[in-house]
Amino acid sequence: MEPQVISLSSEYSVTTEQAGKLLKLQRGILEQVALGVDYREILDALCKVAEEMVSDSLASIMIYDETGSFLTVLAAPSIPAEAVGALNGLVPSENAGSCGTAVHSNEPQYVVDTRTDHRWCDLQTFVDSFAIGACWSCPIKLEEGRAVGSFALSSFEKRTPSAFYKQLLETSAHIVGIILKLQQEEQLLRNLARYDVLTGLANRTLFNNKLSQALKRAEPQHSQLAVLILGLDGFRDINDTQGHDLGDRVLKWVAEKVQSELAETDFFARLGGDEFVILIEYLDEPLVIERLIRKIHAVFKQKIEVANLEFSLSTSIGVSFFPEDGQSAQELLRNAGTALHEAKESGRNCARIYNEKLTDIVRHRVDLVADMRTALINGDFILHYQPQFCQKSNKLLATEVLVRWQHAEKGLIPPDDFIPLAEQSGLINDLGLWIFTTACQQCKDWWDSGMPEFSLAINLSVKQLDAENIQKFKDILLGMEFPVHNLEVEVTEGLIMRQESLQELKKLEDFGVRISMDDFGTGHSSLAQLKHLPISKLKIDRSFIKDLETNENDKVIVKTIIAMGHSLGLKIVAEGVETVEQQGYLVKQGCDLIQGYLLSRPVPPEQLEALLVQV
Ligand SMILES: [Mg+2]
Repeated sequence: MEPQVISLSSEYSVTTEQAGKLLKLQRGILEQVALGVDYREILDALCKVAEEMVSDSLASIMIYDETGSFLTVLAAPSIPAEAVGALNGLVPSENAGSCGTAVHSNEPQYVVDTRTDHRWCDLQTFVDSFAIGACWSCPIKLEEGRAVGSFALSSFEKRTPSAFYKQLLETSAHIVGIILKLQQEEQLLRNLARYDVLTGLANRTLFNNKLSQALKRAEPQHSQLAVLILGLDGFRDINDTQGHDLGDRVLKWVAEKVQSELAETDFFARLGGDEFVILIEYLDEPLVIERLIRKIHAVFKQKIEVANLEFSLSTSIGVSFFPEDGQSAQELLRNAGTALHEAKESGRNCARIYNEKLTDIVRHRVDLVADMRTALINGDFILHYQPQFCQKSNKLLATEVLVRWQHAEKGLIPPDDFIPLAEQSGLINDLGLWIFTTACQQCKDWWDSGMPEFSLAINLSVKQLDAENIQKFKDILLGMEFPVHNLEVEVTEGLIMRQESLQELKKLEDFGVRISMDDFGTGHSSLAQLKHLPISKLKIDRSFIKDLETNENDKVIVKTIIAMGHSLGLKIVAEGVETVEQQGYLVKQGCDLIQGYLLSRPVPPEQLEALLVQV
């Protein structure tokens, strides 16, 4: 019976038995791929299978080197090493033997006689040395593209390939293409695991490796190294307001600019988010770091131009040194992180060097925030009220509510010690709501029981002025039917100058709440700007009152603030009035309200009740 002829490709017709052999080969090799066998072993196995299918043949796989300029042998298990050596470096061209020509032309080349074929004319020495008679070669392609190499079968005799042999070559070349593609993808994955896709910098994993290796070198040589962590200040604002795409471009900008300031031996990586890290090895003297920090800060003095927008950004830097600040990669990174945290806390845009004391400070703060959370739950915060008296009638017209923390072990903690921390940790939202609710409820209860009314002044921090909090405040007031005309909020100059805060404050004002500017004179607002702001009260900062009896400048400033404030229709309060002389001067200038120890300290609720009853 004539064997049935089937077609595996459009070009060649092979018998069923031959097709079965090819499919078996394909399946066997791809199974090994699926099992995760090393790809070099698989390629060797493929060569051997092909050699078994073509008697007295030698299989070889060549691929382009990294530069893409010449071919090297990737697999040739049966070809002697000298021949492999002679083949390496073959430059693809029209006459570069079967393989070089196949790659150059991107087409199979079936050379039947190497001694007479023009494609082999330049390789006659090779033909003589290794007695090659015929050589058939097929290009290896990745996804139908340009040839990246060749799969070849050579023999010592002159030989014409049958359709089956041609099909075998093409099938083998195709399989090699699949394997190489998979290997490329694996490499890509390996790179992904070590490099940051956005900036192309090394990632945390690779940095950790590099740092560990550097420590192994540094230890026996007794050399110093430094780890610098950069944390971009205010980057989250850019992401939040301009979107992540733009934020990503800013990160790329930072990566490029900082990299350009580093020496070739410095290792730069992105830790994630807005944090970068630099490793400096073989440090002769710490001054190198000081200079580098200055260079990095200079980078951030430039305006960042991205997508036709300009941004200003700064960076805080934390530094740790080997061997002083840690022996392991983890320790050095952690301590540089601690120093970075400290730099951020000290006002950002600066650098801090780690030392043990720093850790204690940070630990203390972390503890305090945890305590604050517990205190909120346990009700360890209490409110005191500081009265403001009318300078004419001496009546109690207003009180500023002040929070105190009755700490179980540390005693009474003043607000200056925990409010900044509450702001940094975000706890201010919960604490602020508690103060707001408790104070409003307390006053409402007094008034409902027939006590005289007064203005309740509540301090608001910048962190509290967002749409969510403002809505909550309004809900609380509505919920308890609080007489809104009795409520004022105290905000600082810096806060009121922010456009977003101003918007939120206007919502409160529209609701009937009055706005009072706290600590006036310490910020940057001028009296001229005041008329554009939704305020009804000015509180002259205590620093102008302190030396009022003796300091002529302060006298002039206070007098001017009062006169100008009045001309704008504002009520003026003097804070921190402690002496009769200070009060005398303020009264003379027409200051409306007096607040300070002279007339009353901040008092607990029951004492305020007594004061109210006196009135
Ligand atoms: Mg205040």
